[in-house]
This record gives sequence, C-alpha cells and structure tokens, in this order.
Amino acid sequence: MAEHSTDVVIIGAGPVGLFAVFECGMLNLKCHVVDALPEIGGQCTALYPEKPIYDIPGCPAVLAGDLIDNLEKQAEPFEPVYHLEQSVETVTEKGDRFLVTTSKGTKIDTSAIIIAAGAGAFGPNKPPIKNLSQYENVCVFYACRNKEQFRNKNIVIAGGGDSALDWAIALADIAASTTLVHRRDKFRGAPDSVAKVKALTENGKIKLETPYQLKDVHGEGNILTQVEIVDLDGNTKILKTDALLCFFGLASSLGPLENWELDIDHKHIKSDPATSATNRDGIYAVGDIATYDRKLKLILTGFAECAQAAHAIYARLYPDTPLHFEYSTTKGLPG
Ligand code: FAD
Repeated sequence: MAEHSTDVVIIGAGPVGLFAVFECGMLNLKCHVVDALPEIGGQCTALYPEKPIYDIPGCPAVLAGDLIDNLEKQAEPFEPVYHLEQSVETVTEKGDRFLVTTSKGTKIDTSAIIIAAGAGAFGPNKPPIKNLSQYENVCVFYACRNKEQFRNKNIVIAGGGDSALDWAIALADIAASTTLVHRRDKFRGAPDSVAKVKALTENGKIKLETPYQLKDVHGEGNILTQVEIVDLDGNTKILKTDALLCFFGLASSLGPLENWELDIDHKHIKSDPATSATNRDGIYAVGDIATYDRKLKLILTGFAECAQAAHAIYARLYPDTPLHFEYSTTKGLPG
C-alpha cells in the first residue's frame, strides 16, 4: 500500500530536480522529491557550495550553495514533499500509474516520474579508518556548505585534488591552523590553485604534510582532538585537530536505475530533447543523467529540459484538456 499519492515523483534533488518542482508546479502538478543524500542540492551542495557559477542566466555570479537556496525558495509555493537520505530502489507499473519504493520503505503512488539523478546516487569515498563514523558531521566532513563553522579551529584537510586545494585556500585565513595532508608531493588540482596553496604555505597560512596519509583519528565521544598521519616508511605524526575534511572524490553508481528497463547509453538515460521522455511511457529524464545528440551537461540545459518534461507530463495526464500556454508573468504564483 502506498503512503503517498502524487502527480510526479522526481528522483534527485539536485539543481535540475528542484527546478522540475517549479515547472511542474506552474502546471498544477504536485511533486514528491526523493534523494539519496541527506541534503538537497546534488553536486552543487555536495561538491562545490562555495564556488561561484557564472553561467546561470540572469545571475552574473552565484555561489552554488546560494543557487540551491534560491531554487528551494522558488519551489516552495508548490509545496513539494522531500524524502531525503533514501534512494529510489524500485519502480513498478500499476495500470497507468507507478509505485515508487525507496530504500527506507517509503512508497509513493504517482502518475509520472522525472529522473533527475545526475551521475546516479553518489556518496563520498571514505578513508578506511575505524571509528571515523562516530565523528561524522560533527568534526569529520566530506563536504561542507559553510566555511564559517571552521573559524578559529585547527583544521586538517586530506586529499590532493581541486576540492582539497579549494578548501585549504578558503580556510587559510579563517581557521586557527590549516594543514593539508596528501600522500604525494604533487597535487592534482588546477595549476592556479596549486600556485595559491604554495604561496600560502610559504607565508605560513597553510602547513603541508606530504607524502603522508591518514592513519587514525582520536578523540572523545564525537569530538575529535587528534589526527594521526603516516608516511611511506611508517613514520607517524600526531596533528592537533578540531575538524577533519576528507576529499577523496565521490563514488557514483546508477544502481537500481539500471534495472528499470530504460534505454541506457554509457551510464546515461536516452531521452527525447523535445519532451524529455524516455523509452518508458510516463518516465522522463532531465539534467546530467539525460542524453541525446549534442547534449550539453550544464545546469541551464537541465532547467530547459524540466519545462519540456512538465509540459509533456501535463499532455499525458490531461489529453482532453489542451494546455492554455501562459507566461509566468501572466499566470503569477499560487497564493
Ligand atoms: P546532480 O546535481 O548530480 O544531482 C543528482 C541527485 O540525484 C543527487 O543528489 C543524487 O544523490 C540523486 N540521486 C541519484 N540517483 C538516485 C536514486 N536512485 N535515488 C535517490 N536519489 C538519487 N554546471 C554549470 O552549468 N555551470 C558551472 O559553472 C558548473 N560548475 C561545476 C563545477 C564543479 C566542481 C562540478 C563538479 C560541476 C559543475 N557543473 C557546472 C555541473 C553541474 O553541477 C551539473 O550539471 C548539475 O549538478 C547537474 O544537476 P542534476 O540535478 O542533473 O544532477
């Protein structure tokens, strides 16, 4: 038995999934949104909340985290229901409707499905340290939205790519101390970021510990006090630490999506750019997960695909009631 019934289930609360709520809402279609992550925002929140995006129309520069806040606000009047920290596991067809079931057992009966799953359900690669989980989200982080939480703290950042470098640069002036730990002497990030880290190291704002990797963490309860690092010869060092930020990339997988009889091309779902329809009637794909000839994986492309999908869903649900096309300026918002 389904606990919820709705017009559209959106799988994925990334920027594109959030905008799908708005586009559906403007056509009076109610939405439930499911995401595997604990927070909405997809890649923008999980990977680069503090980075400015320059190619969102009408926003000369917007921080990725702020874009998500704005999309959430824009969706709010349509009262979406969010089901977070649960991935969609199964989609079962029931006549002309679907039953969507999540990993937490949530069951949603729906007329249509929009898949806005980006690169699939993703989560951070974590270092193999026992007891790390007891500090997670208090002192150990794999992504962060707000750098202010690290003001005057002793921070250890682990990793050698762009995220590790960006956060080391961002926290160098805010934290009491910023130590960057990497298992190689060379970093994989953008040359400009590598140069900035080098300069900040030279003037004492960042301390480099290379070639070292994380060995263990120590603390009490969920409060971290020390990080233990080790070099290739087994020499260890203890770093006084209030917060540990680990950036070892993300693991993503299409997971259960692969079993839904969708037409998949190199881990992307084939869709019709005119309607965002997939090969399965009633299931649509938008954003990074959707592919067609000359597809550009950009947020703005995904936004337009949401409008196409919403209109196609409306036409499917109400074949006898042609949509009277109206601009948002004419139609206004509910309430
Ligand atoms: P995502 O943001 O990937 O969100 C998908 C969501 O779906 C995730 O939260 C995931 O957990 C969830 N999900 C997946 N499968 C399931 C499931 N089975 N059940 C439940 N939930 C599921 N783009 C630009 O246009 N301009 C830029 O300047 C730009 N800069 C970028 C900088 C960086 C560092 C990176 C990494 C990307 C950048 N991008 C940029 C790309 C942009 O972030 C993506 O195009 C955008 O996030 C795609 O949005 P989406 O909603 O389709 O997918």
